Amino acid sequence: MPRIRQPSPSELAAHPREYALLCRVAPGGEADAQTLSEYAKEYGQPSKAVAEGEITFADFAAMFSRPASAREPAGTDCVGWAARDKSGVMAPFGFNRRPVGPKDVRIQICHVGICHSDLHQAKNDWGSSLYPMVPGHEIVGIVTEVGAEVTSFKPGDRAGVGCMVDSCGSCELCAPERSEQQFCPKVVLTYNAVHPDGSVTQGGYSSHIVVTEAFVLRIPDALPLDASAPLLCAGITTYSPLKHFGLDKPGMRLGVVGLGGLGHMAVKLAKGMGLHVTVISTSESKREEATKVLGADAFLVSKDPEALKSAANSLHGIIDTVSAKHDLAALIGLLKLDGKLVLVGVPEVPLDLPSAAVIFKRATVSGSLIGGIKQTQEMLDFCAEKGIASTIEKIPIDYVNKSYERMAKSDVRYRFVIDIQGSLVA
Ligand code: NAP
Ligand code: ZN
Ligand code: ZN
Repeated sequence: MPRIRQPSPSELAAHPREYALLCRVAPGGEADAQTLSEYAKEYGQPSKAVAEGEITFADFAAMFSRPASAREPAGTDCVGWAARDKSGVMAPFGFNRRPVGPKDVRIQICHVGICHSDLHQAKNDWGSSLYPMVPGHEIVGIVTEVGAEVTSFKPGDRAGVGCMVDSCGSCELCAPERSEQQFCPKVVLTYNAVHPDGSVTQGGYSSHIVVTEAFVLRIPDALPLDASAPLLCAGITTYSPLKHFGLDKPGMRLGVVGLGGLGHMAVKLAKGMGLHVTVISTSESKREEATKVLGADAFLVSKDPEALKSAANSLHGIIDTVSAKHDLAALIGLLKLDGKLVLVGVPEVPLDLPSAAVIFKRATVSGSLIGGIKQTQEMLDFCAEKGIASTIEKIPIDYVNKSYERMAKSDVRYRFVIDIQGSLVA
């Protein structure tokens, strides 16, 4: 079995992508020849024969090295894909990340999920877009460097970054007991946001990222790296309201509206908590998979009034993930008395609030924003324990524009995840 020697610090600094691959292929330093040649096909130079016995890191790096990806402007240390204007069209983009500071963790990105929020922001649906914009806030990868004061990560660790990269760190929301940084007035989002020093954040459709330790998550070994990327946004955004609104008790009946990235995670997480789950979808074509593959107990087509009538007054709560304008009255009709409708989808226009429907159900209509760092780690550990990850379609970076077109048509099963290491080289 080939044994691969660990790099010297200078070799690691020169080949962070290949080091991250080494950590994936041979976490204990050893890899069987079969795994090595499979990885070489996807990430390296399959023509190079896999050596037996001991391989130096230099040999390994040579086997997996690939020419740098083209970018505009050239000569930068990070390569990504960016939207340049509200057409939302993505194209190669070169930029520099900050050097690793004392509290920073540098992560070589392996995979990044595509969230509908990426599409909303690339197209300026919410009116707050800064261009050029590198989207991506469902980031997983391997730590390649840490600052002198970092205590919880070291090179080689599996790491994740979600929707936030910093906050004030001192208000009551940022306090460790509370850890709800997403509501801190000084929260800094992973992209399309500005750090206090004026620098603009850029997201994970890119080769690496540098993030302060407090916003880096541990990806448990039991989770696959690629299919856990969507947990960093879709996972926590649906886990958090289930917990916060007490919709997490076994036997409770939950509705999930919209079976896309967020919706399919809501189904899996709620099933993991022992709930009875009904999917409410516009797509009859998703029925079979929803019940047979994702584990939902029931499936309603929202345009079928008879189906909605038969399920009236049956649900304790609903997580609504729909990304476009839609009717809330029909959904509230599905709630039991005192039921809770939690909005997590963010359509570009306000939704109408049907007062009578809310009043006659004494319903609570509320919203929820991602989740804090502590709860995100709790969710990742819960997923590892229950064997929950996202159902993904893995794509190379140059499929990103096509994936946006498909996501806009609800044609995603159920999250696109970009294979960064396989298709983007700094
Ligand atoms: P997605 O994968 O595109 O899924 C959205 C689903 O909504 C679609 O698959 C579709 O499901 C349904 N849908 C779309 N258009 C619809 C329409 N006109 N009427 C009824 N249903 C429709 O998107 P996502 O990534 O899950 O994100 C969903 C929304 O959540 C986005 O607005 C996003 O910005 C937002 N978001 C919010 C947070 C937060 O913190 N609150 C975090 C992340 C994302 P069916 O085919 O089953 O009908
Ligand atoms: Zn998101
Ligand atoms: Zn704060």
